[in-house]
Amino acid sequence: RTFPTAGLHPVMLDNVVNKCQYPEPTPIQQYTIPAVLQGNDVIAVAQTGSGKTAAYLIPVLSRLMGKAKKLCAPKARPQGPGVRAEPLVIIVVPTRELAIQVFDETRRLCYRSMLRPVVAYGGLPLGQCLDELSKGCDILIASPGRLCDLMERPAALTMSRIKYTILDEADEMLHDDWQEELGKIMAGGDANEDADHTYLMFSATFPAPLRKLAREYMADDHYVLR
Ligand code: AMP
Repeated sequence: RTFPTAGLHPVMLDNVVNKCQYPEPTPIQQYTIPAVLQGNDVIAVAQTGSGKTAAYLIPVLSRLMGKAKKLCAPKARPQGPGVRAEPLVIIVVPTRELAIQVFDETRRLCYRSMLRPVVAYGGLPLGQCLDELSKGCDILIASPGRLCDLMERPAALTMSRIKYTILDEADEMLHDDWQEELGKIMAGGDANEDADHTYLMFSATFPAPLRKLAREYMADDHYVLR
């Protein structure tokens, strides 16, 4: 498979080929792009450096680009001081470094689309996060602690429009003892108004607590890629 034959939105294809200059899909992208484009929940055993970030960003953002006119119209997504963020995608990452890396790749892949990413992690002043959220947020990249803080501020953030919940380096978050927060975040996706909610999980290992989260929240026929 190649990027031009993968069935991507034309803006996404242009961003992948020209903005990011990725010549062809990496092995993990070969598997995840079609599976996610078809709307499946996916668990992927993924190492850093495998192209795992683009493996979920490309199909998820490509699907949203097809609906962006409707989803990101000013009426659907108000913005301005005090306005509540209603992201469509939540990407949960263990560290500030990964948050920034994922945010940068998301910005490149969202180029010339209406989709607006926001990054939030513990080291950023809360006021700055709230300010960024109020400017409009379609894709929220966040550490589990900061995300749970924000979820407790319903005036700033609602999970009711979430279509995709993505855990990246999920096992690292367990090592850092974020198990309870991950459960809350996964449940937040389930509170979505739509039935078509997708869960994606990327991790180097799958210890029991992650398998439990997957059993509890992911579709029974989810794909497992290793
Ligand atoms: P990751 O595994 O997501 O940390 O990605 C590792 C690096 O590979 C990042 O710098 C990406 O920009 C790059 N990358 C992702 N997909 C591709 C691709 N298909 N071809 C070449 N480089 C890629």
